[in-house]
Amino acid sequence: MANKKEDTKPKLKMAVYWGAACGGCCVSVLDVHEALFDVVAAADLVFWPIALDTKYADVEAMEDGYIDLTLFNGAVRNSENEHMAKLLRQKTKVLVAYGSCAHMGGIPGLANFTTKEEIFKRVYETSESTVNPDKIYPQPEFEVPEGKLEIPVFYNDVRSLGQVVDVDYYLPGCPPQTERLVEVFMAIVKGEELPPKGSVVGANVKTQCEECERKKSDNKLIKRFYRPWQIEDDGETCFLEQGVICMGPATRGGCGVRCIKGNAPCRGCYGPPPDAPDPGAKMMSAIATMIDVNDPDEIQKVVDDIDDPAGTFYRFSLPGSILRRKMT
Ligand code: SF4
Ligand code: SF4
Repeated sequence: MANKKEDTKPKLKMAVYWGAACGGCCVSVLDVHEALFDVVAAADLVFWPIALDTKYADVEAMEDGYIDLTLFNGAVRNSENEHMAKLLRQKTKVLVAYGSCAHMGGIPGLANFTTKEEIFKRVYETSESTVNPDKIYPQPEFEVPEGKLEIPVFYNDVRSLGQVVDVDYYLPGCPPQTERLVEVFMAIVKGEELPPKGSVVGANVKTQCEECERKKSDNKLIKRFYRPWQIEDDGETCFLEQGVICMGPATRGGCGVRCIKGNAPCRGCYGPPPDAPDPGAKMMSAIATMIDVNDPDEIQKVVDDIDDPAGTFYRFSLPGSILRRKMT
């Protein structure tokens, strides 16, 4: 009888959408492997541009709240991303910001260190492969004999999903670990009690350092920093103590410290823990306590060893951080 009851349970309606994204998050949904059978047994995919030939008009025709669960990956970089974020919010009961780009802006969010004008000038004028003597830039609207052509408007700022619409849950990672996705999905399917709206799910409140098994000492000081390729990692000592930037102190755990287990330092894709919401500030404080020189010029030399500190510390999180963007 129990099976019969399960069989008659209506399936969830699920959507997956990408904004300013690389496609990795969509691929990670397919990475659920055999759990895909559980997913399709419990949910009908009603919209997923990478895999299904459904159109925006199909979503517009749905009743509000028709979709039970949407995984929105990617940041909001242009007017199309914003339109779809608002449309899917309207049509969805549980909207999940899926992956680092939707969570805090992700890699596309690094564009907030520059401006739309600078990006366009580089891409359409000064790049080595561009030939554009008339300096023609894309126009959002263009009249041709057949009618008006439109392309999305490129915004100056990249925003996270939560900076554009109300988000129910954030599932971080670049991309999120598939096991975490399945856990969250099955919790929704089974109607389990979910954490409060707005929570980060599928990740821990503790940092990577608290889950990392590399050897750490209490007061290790360093005299310079290295790029990972400049040292021979001993495979067991904390990366920071070897002078290699590791984002562990400023990053939530929950991924299974996979990069570190693969002998690569943490890059910060799970976002900052709740008690240190700005990863750049946290990393600057962690690093400041480790530098073993006192003379200001010497300190500057040590800090200069860190290649692109702002881009490194905010690699996945600039739009969602306190810093948010470079002032212009
Ligand atoms: S979070 Fe990572 S994998 Fe997902 S869309 Fe952004 S860059 Fe790609
Ligand atoms: S800084 Fe990196 S290597 Fe060191 S303990 Fe933290 S996560 Fe592990």
